Amino acid sequence: MSTSTPASSTSVLVVNSGSSSVKYQLVDPASGDAIASGIVERIGDALGSVKHVAHGDTTRREVPVPDHAEALRLVLGLFDEIGPDLASANVVAVGHRVVQGGDLFDGPTLVTPEVEQQIEELSPLAPLHNPANLTGIRVAQALLPDVPHVVVFDTAFFRTLPDAAATYAVEASVAAEHKVRRYGAHGTSHQYVSQQVAQILDRPLEDLHQIVLHLGNGASASAVRGGVAVETSMGLTPLEGLVMGTRSGDVDPAVVFHLHRNAGMSIDEIDDLLNRRSGVKGLAGESDFRALHDLVAEGHAGARLALDVYLHRLRKYVGAYHAVLGRLDVITFTAGIGENDDIVRLGALSGLEALGIEVDAARNEGRKSEPTVISPDGAKVTVLVVPTNEELAIARQALDVIGA
Ligand code: AMP
Repeated sequence: MSTSTPASSTSVLVVNSGSSSVKYQLVDPASGDAIASGIVERIGDALGSVKHVAHGDTTRREVPVPDHAEALRLVLGLFDEIGPDLASANVVAVGHRVVQGGDLFDGPTLVTPEVEQQIEELSPLAPLHNPANLTGIRVAQALLPDVPHVVVFDTAFFRTLPDAAATYAVEASVAAEHKVRRYGAHGTSHQYVSQQVAQILDRPLEDLHQIVLHLGNGASASAVRGGVAVETSMGLTPLEGLVMGTRSGDVDPAVVFHLHRNAGMSIDEIDDLLNRRSGVKGLAGESDFRALHDLVAEGHAGARLALDVYLHRLRKYVGAYHAVLGRLDVITFTAGIGENDDIVRLGALSGLEALGIEVDAARNEGRKSEPTVISPDGAKVTVLVVPTNEELAIARQALDVIGA
């Protein structure tokens, strides 16, 4: 992390407001460095927590944070008190992550009253996220009125999905009226990583057929042809697709009817079950993969099954997306698990040699903080690990919008 801010450089403040948290990062878009970063958590609880990282030091505070306005005031106060000084950091834009852009937004957009209204209208599709994102935007605008604010949508990269991939085979009039379709999520990461891949391999993005596996606490796969997304595993919401830390990923929708009718569970209870009590946590009791591997090593049957289900689902998606793309050049792992977990990377792609997909065990070993090729020389499909950087991607997209 850079600790100095040359007076001539510019920076972008990236804000990611959740329902009870605000994450932020002051980014130097030229170097890609995080000049400072932090998180305010437990907004609305009796006692909230604040972590601010700057100049290589971490400051932690436990204070009441009643709402998002107070959270952002606290953050700006920490910049004043501890630094870096926002005035000399020359903040030229604030970039906001917004989860759901629906069918309205296919790229980063300057915030206007009309855009705020549209984000609000899309809230039924992301009831936990869009209202919180919007609150963050409004509060940040009030506190930083002199810089342009730009929204970057998690769904935007997937606006190009062909109808065949985006459409659920649900009665057309109902789907249209209620905007039921595949929107995807994690788009900023899939786009950033797929573009990085072209640079790393020094090949034109237009020529590459790629699969990107974003494996963090949330997890998603995408198929990207020539830089354009053609398939992705998350759907109307980030619940569909791969097995995740606490989310089930794909289940037969009839599981919902069954649990409602025969187990007497309410829709809210089933929502909570599938989003927060399922996935790896639901099967093994732990959602963090370091703990999961420890349990597997101790012979925990539930943990072994969770890992097997997780890897099986990944392998199934890789095969499916290979078929969608026709020809496959690159598979890239990214995010917390993708970058750090060599057991998952090797396990997910084992048995796919007949498809030209191989992982070199020695190259794969260990955590990767730099882009790394983990397939053997001469392999038909190049397998890569590429660290994602959503904050940098948001900062650069914000600059594109303001023309800086
Ligand atoms: P993310 O959502 O991208 O921040 O990823 C968070 C997840 O990455 C955690 O829940 C862990 O399961 C996983 N993770 C982080 N570090 C490691 C590691 N060293 N080995 C395995 N998994 C890790």
